[in-house]
Amino acid sequence: MSVRTRFAPSPTGFLHIGGARTALFCQLHTRRLGGTFILRIEDTDRERSTQEAVDAIIQGLHWLGLDPDEGPYFQSDNTALYLAAAERLLAEGKAYRCYCSRESIDALRESQREQQIKPRYDGRCRTRTDFPAEQPFVIRFQTPSSGVAAWEDHIQGSIRFPNEELDDLILVRSDGSPTYNLAVVVDDHNMGINLVIRGEDHISNTPRQIHLFQALGWPVPEYAHMPLLHGSDGSKLSKRHGAVSVLQYREDGFLPDALNNYLLRLGWSHGEQELFTRQEMQELFNIREVGRSAAIFNLDKLLWINGHHIRTATAEQLLPDYRYQLDKRGIRGQDTAYLLQVITEFQSRAKTMVEMVDKSLFLFVDTLGPYEEKALKKHLLSALPQSLMALHQALAGLETWQAQEIDHCFRQVVADLQMEMGQLAQPVRVALTGTASSPGIHETLYLLGRSKSLQRLQDAIDFLQNKPK
Ligand code: GLU
Repeated sequence: MSVRTRFAPSPTGFLHIGGARTALFCQLHTRRLGGTFILRIEDTDRERSTQEAVDAIIQGLHWLGLDPDEGPYFQSDNTALYLAAAERLLAEGKAYRCYCSRESIDALRESQREQQIKPRYDGRCRTRTDFPAEQPFVIRFQTPSSGVAAWEDHIQGSIRFPNEELDDLILVRSDGSPTYNLAVVVDDHNMGINLVIRGEDHISNTPRQIHLFQALGWPVPEYAHMPLLHGSDGSKLSKRHGAVSVLQYREDGFLPDALNNYLLRLGWSHGEQELFTRQEMQELFNIREVGRSAAIFNLDKLLWINGHHIRTATAEQLLPDYRYQLDKRGIRGQDTAYLLQVITEFQSRAKTMVEMVDKSLFLFVDTLGPYEEKALKKHLLSALPQSLMALHQALAGLETWQAQEIDHCFRQVVADLQMEMGQLAQPVRVALTGTASSPGIHETLYLLGRSKSLQRLQDAIDFLQNKPK
């Protein structure tokens, strides 16, 4: 039987890093086994669910390359199915109408607290035979009062819950709306889900769901409950640890597969290997190998992995994200072949795509801002305007603007001036980029183009000639 998993987010907020990890594990696990990964939007909470959140989840998954094989399905489309299941349980005597008012339940809780027993509904309406017509009621599931609910969790191992600890779960609220556990069971059954992969915060729901599957006469899926993510200080992952929207990582210049690689290593390992291509992830990942301890989120490691993925990607792979970042700075309509050359020169120099754009921005602006203070002092102020003039003149005389020709010309000028390469290259670099770091000087000149290069050399010459003595 082929494996079917689902990612089932509630659209009450953006897709965050923990949800993305669940989706990734679902998808990778099914990829290796040739199964199906389904997206189900759990929007039964109409008040807290928003269309923006639905869009952000779908967009975030798409950016990460985690588009579902099936779906999105929406729970709000299935209400009739949930209610039908509840009616069936009612008809078969496996569920009952509970007319207890909030006051009487509160009073029950209070007295249980006084007797120091765990507060739970005591099932007093189970045997009720009157059905007061005007009174609101909920539908409760009649939980078996003895025995256990047990399963072999793919991650957590053997788990057993004594039934006597569970109270009679509400299936349908007094306003007629189905509850989470009922909806999940009906959907998991109808969608043929045979492996549920989700956060361990749902472990306490699983015994209830198992009971419902059994009462409805449906096969119980297998379960894998993933350890939650924690921040570096050990507390639950929050905004200040980087638990922001997945799409924020795109804004911050992370590559989707770097984020996937990083999330994969949170809880799963393959020997000592840290870096994985998408293909390797799909071939190697097995949900049964996920560890049980909480995974700690570490931004430095994510940056390191991102730098690696930027270095090893092809320029074509980086192009969409590079363009995206340029676009945000208002730089549009650049020639693709040119951008690919730029990316090739800069991809070994940046840990994020934002950094890549920062470092290459001098190529796209018409005029440079002020020179970087340190670079100016260290390299440009001491340069002789005559040497820059000589270079300007030689470059201006080139017939074509080709990297090799520029390189040749530059070396010739250095030799004529009887200088070391670096003695001329460093001030020229500051003149062209405003900073002390860039790709090789002839590549920099080449990418910057003839007119901007000559203009910036002239600006530097003017600057040096006019500097206060
Ligand atoms: N909708 C639930 C959540 O967002 C997940 C339910 C499940 O995976 O069973 O936490």
